[in-house]
Amino acid sequence: MLTDLRSDESKKRAAINLLKSHDEVRDEALKKYTLLACQLLDMPMCFVSVLDDEKQYIKSAQNMTVTETNLGEAFCTNTLEQGETYICPDTHRHPDFKTYDAITEAPFVRFYAGCPLKTQDGVAVGTLCLLDTQPRTLSGEQINIFEQLAGLVSGFLASWHNVGYIDIVTLLPNRQRMLKDISVSKESTFKLVIIDCIDMPFAYEMARSLGMTVVENLLRDMAVQLQARLQLTEQLYAVAVGRFAYFTHDKENSALENVAQRLRGIQAKISPEVPLDLDIHIGDSGCCDNAMTPGEILRRAVSALHEAISHGHRYMTYDEVLDNRKKNDFSLLTGLREALHEDRGLYLVYQPKVSLLNGQITGVEALLRWKHATHGEVLPGLFIPLVERTSLMRELTGWVIDHAIAQLGQWRSQGISLPVSINLAASDFSRPDFADELDHKMRNAGLTPALLGVECLETEKMLESPAALNGLEMLKLRGFKISLDDFGSGYSNINYLRQIPMDIIKLDRSIVSKIASDKASRIIVRNVVRLLKQLDYVVLAEGVEDDKTVEILRALGCDEVQGYVYARPMRAGDLEVWYHDRNKSQS
Ligand code: C2E
Ligand code: CA
Ligand code: CA
Repeated sequence: MLTDLRSDESKKRAAINLLKSHDEVRDEALKKYTLLACQLLDMPMCFVSVLDDEKQYIKSAQNMTVTETNLGEAFCTNTLEQGETYICPDTHRHPDFKTYDAITEAPFVRFYAGCPLKTQDGVAVGTLCLLDTQPRTLSGEQINIFEQLAGLVSGFLASWHNVGYIDIVTLLPNRQRMLKDISVSKESTFKLVIIDCIDMPFAYEMARSLGMTVVENLLRDMAVQLQARLQLTEQLYAVAVGRFAYFTHDKENSALENVAQRLRGIQAKISPEVPLDLDIHIGDSGCCDNAMTPGEILRRAVSALHEAISHGHRYMTYDEVLDNRKKNDFSLLTGLREALHEDRGLYLVYQPKVSLLNGQITGVEALLRWKHATHGEVLPGLFIPLVERTSLMRELTGWVIDHAIAQLGQWRSQGISLPVSINLAASDFSRPDFADELDHKMRNAGLTPALLGVECLETEKMLESPAALNGLEMLKLRGFKISLDDFGSGYSNINYLRQIPMDIIKLDRSIVSKIASDKASRIIVRNVVRLLKQLDYVVLAEGVEDDKTVEILRALGCDEVQGYVYARPMRAGDLEVWYHDRNKSQS
């Protein structure tokens, strides 16, 4: 900002660095001012100069080729030091100028006049200069015009500096300003702290119900309240809706604790009478230096902030390990999206389910596999939880459905009649048209819905969601067989089960695996199976790995078993071989 530089040396330096930097639009506009100065004051040469601790930089010059000079030989140093218009009628008579290389190299410069370019609070950040090849003077009126031109240039620079760099709601400098300030900063190490004050969905909801003006009032008051609580000496930036940032040199971790403490219980007003408790989360970038790009510094602070929000912590510092995990998750998701769109690397494997009554194969479960180009086989337990929260889930489920149906069709043409069950997330069957679509796809393939089973997880989510329960009801009505997956691993209240339309209950490996060695597990499973049978469910035990467990399950009245004891999940071709071999040996 080209204001309030007097109190802050680093801000002044940042402003000078910004003026030094190349900006075509700004320099073109400045060129018009220097041309105007030449015309109005009848001067052959004019330029704008910016000075830092080492050099003078010449911008938008008329009839000059020099672009920078050493500070010691710049006329403009005098102008800046004096802080007012400085005129040298004949350079050759000036005691110092003889030592200036620029003059010896360009002895034709005989006249110099410079006027400081000042910010609103009077800090000189550059000069507007006139040169002539012969000694001369300026009349009072000419000096007046010259100073007015310098005032116009200063005004132009101030507004150029601010255009697009102010957050119009809070009137704080915005994210673009912050990124520019980082890029021109000479500070060696610093941290960027971001404070999140409002949950975005809540803000949007509020805008919907109360209107945008109310939200803007709130944001404005947030900025005021934050500044009042934090008493920052550093500039506060508004970097996104309800998000504010500042730089700090405080390397102590306790500093964040301190900030969080100060913001405790902070409120901002929706209207003069209605305060709102702010939900504050803070993230900081960790120690950064100018070797990093501004974008990376901001990304680190945002990464820390999002970790804080997702873990429900008040503040967190950037953590490379967590960040890499997120980056990996993200690249896995990107990879999966590509795999889906190009239909490359994804395939289904099938694991048989065996009846304990007659040893027949009652069907197979389709399980998704992904052979990643560089990571090799990635198991669904790793990528499904990532996909579930994204819109990709719908596409992935669609892929599984299409491939399972295609396989069913193929098997039917080979005379193999094996029902296939697929795994669905609650979000899948909560869609109102899901059952219809599935029904349609099956009929298009000339298959009856009874050949496709649906396995659903997340009992608790289903119970809470009328849409999910309704979706299952629709599937059941159309003749799809429904299994409840992972029973016994988490929420397993049998009373509530009655609310879920269900044909088969799959007992989770975690409660089945110990029954051969642990009496208590055996008693629990016996009672669970008895109850489920009394309620007329088909009971399937999954993850069974040994014969002894199979025998106990048979004795307990369990209907079906799925597990390595019979077969691992296999590719369709291997399953066909296994299926025929087994049928042969059974007959
Ligand atoms: P799940 O539905 O409970 O599937 C059973 C998991 O147990 C499978 O793991 C299977 O390979 C494994 N398993 C089968 N028999 C045994 C055994 O005897 N011992 C042991 N230790 N494990 C056995 P997988 O294939 O890694 O799948 C993990 C989970 O990923 C599945 O659990 C399911 O929740 C999910 N999943 C798999 N495919 C899909 C899919 O197409 N869509 C969705 N939404 N989820 C899927
Ligand atoms: Ca399953
Ligand atoms: Ca399961």
